[in-house]
Amino acid sequence: MPISNFANSFVCDLVAYEPGKPIEETARELGLDPSSIVKVASNENPLGPSPLAKKAMQEAIESAHIYPDGGGYKLRSAIAEKIGFGIENVVLGNGSNEIIELLCHTFLNRDAELIAAKHAFVVYKLMATLFGAKYVEVDDPDFIHDLDAMADAITENTRLVFIANPNNPTGTQVTQEAIDRFVDRLPEHAIAVFDEAYFEFLDTPPDVLKHIRAGKNVIVLRTCSKIHGLAALRIGYGIAPESLANLLQKARQPFNTNAIAQAGALAALDDDDHIQKTRAINSEGLVFYEKAFAERSLKFVPSVANFILVEVGDGGLVFKEMLKQGVIVRAMGGYKLPGWVRISIGTPAENARALEVLDDVLAKAGLAPAV
Ligand SMILES: *Cc1c(COP(=O)(O)O)cnc(C)c1O
Repeated sequence: MPISNFANSFVCDLVAYEPGKPIEETARELGLDPSSIVKVASNENPLGPSPLAKKAMQEAIESAHIYPDGGGYKLRSAIAEKIGFGIENVVLGNGSNEIIELLCHTFLNRDAELIAAKHAFVVYKLMATLFGAKYVEVDDPDFIHDLDAMADAITENTRLVFIANPNNPTGTQVTQEAIDRFVDRLPEHAIAVFDEAYFEFLDTPPDVLKHIRAGKNVIVLRTCSKIHGLAALRIGYGIAPESLANLLQKARQPFNTNAIAQAGALAALDDDDHIQKTRAINSEGLVFYEKAFAERSLKFVPSVANFILVEVGDGGLVFKEMLKQGVIVRAMGGYKLPGWVRISIGTPAENARALEVLDDVLAKAGLAPAV
């Protein structure tokens, strides 16, 4: 009998997460120079890592023979101080994806339910499946989370409600009023998880931390992967009431974040120059794409994050054709959006190249979307 017969059925049934196609792999397959490839597929920072983080990591390498501070004292203290919380409110993760997993470890089982929006970040569904829990999907008209409908969907068995704000891949944000109304309706057995991976890009950031200060069942997730340009380090964090944070600390591995990554993240937090430059180049790129798509009558979802969703007809085909020309975007079939691709905002040169290749691909017979 195959070994899979002895495995947990919910693991066998899982569809593995498909990340953005790596540059090296694409270069190998196409016989191209990696430096000629434009990757705008994983919402990475086109300016690269925070320079302060690079320097701090080089110094940290000298102590690579010593186990990291598993408690992440320095980094957690710095995060806490920045947002006016105590260290006991901060949990570090190997990327904020790990905090999602820790939440599932702590609260999910075969009787539990996890609620998310129809076009939410796919990792929520993947995790619910991995823990054998029931995944409850709520419609998101106009690609915006409907928090009232999500509150309506809460049952006795609901433990986690995921709200990506802004959401990936839609790039849309929910209002403060909707958040406040939602949190007011939370029963004591359910936790609202506000995934704020793109928080630092927002012109009108929400205040969810006030609900944590008030002791509600709310956790905010943030990451160093996006604005700080440190996706390879795998550092994310959760901010939660102490009782919830303590539970998550129990669920993590002793050394879940490494010392070099902790040092880099610590330096990046204070790199305001890098943050401001990234915000500026991102706003410029969003304007560039929105104008270009409007001129071409391509339907797009106005975005407040560092990527944009655009309807191109056959997203899988457009992805493949653009790939052949060395531009990696993300097809959205896995998000129930087979007609769309998601493009991360790059440097002006990368944006121009991506648009040029998109134009070329769409101009080929049969690829132009119905307008
Ligand atoms: C990118 C992203 C994350 C961050 O993942 P890391 O594990 O911190 O790299 C989390 N949530 C959403 C919605 C994202 O798009």
